[in-house]
Amino acid sequence: MPLYEYRCEQCSKQFEATQSVHARAEDTECPFCHAQQATRILSSFASKIAGDHKPGFAEIKAKAMNNERMERFAKLPPLNAKRNVPPPNTSSDSSPVTGTGSSSGS
Ligand SMILES: [Zn+2]
Repeated sequence: MPLYEYRCEQCSKQFEATQSVHARAEDTECPFCHAQQATRILSSFASKIAGDHKPGFAEIKAKAMNNERMERFAKLPPLNAKRNVPPPNTSSDSSPVTGTGSSSGS
């Protein structure tokens, strides 16, 4: 179950509550004053990180290197290209037999 952050409108305190996604903010009771006037704080933690995040130089360079690598990979021939090459002929039938001996006769 997701963890939600709430702020109580009654006592203006913040608290966390693990609820189902179908739970409504108006049904959430404040643990401090037990008022049902809580408003859900939508992931202020995550949005703060995403908002301040800027890609650094290293990150840009890494991305460029990755693109270069992908380009190089695309230029490679497909793996099944080797299957079109016929196997070398190793049959011994076609090779002529040499060296039958020198015939010496009188
Ligand atoms: Zn409260």
